[in-house]
Amino acid sequence: MSKASIRKKKKIQADRDSNKKLREMFARKKVCKFCVKKLKEADYKDATFLKNFMAESGRILPRKNTGNCAKHQRMTANAIKRSRNAGFLPFMNR
Ligand SMILES: [Zn+2]
Repeated sequence: MSKASIRKKKKIQADRDSNKKLREMFARKKVCKFCVKKLKEADYKDATFLKNFMAESGRILPRKNTGNCAKHQRMTANAIKRSRNAGFLPFMNR
């Protein structure tokens, strides 16, 4: 391996480390809203609350975006689906 390529590799690694540090500095840890509020169930009739977990388009947002834990994400997804069938929430917004 040439010296130049080694230097390049080291630079890439340094960039990665600094990025990691920045992420740790600025990223806020997402917390599950259900766990914080100690809610036991997601109410399908509470459309305003469930809208927090939906995109404007009507999609159910993934856990990555909402910060829900696995158990509560499952519950919200079911509640949203139930709510759609009951007519509280839209299937799709155009
Ligand atoms: Zn939770």
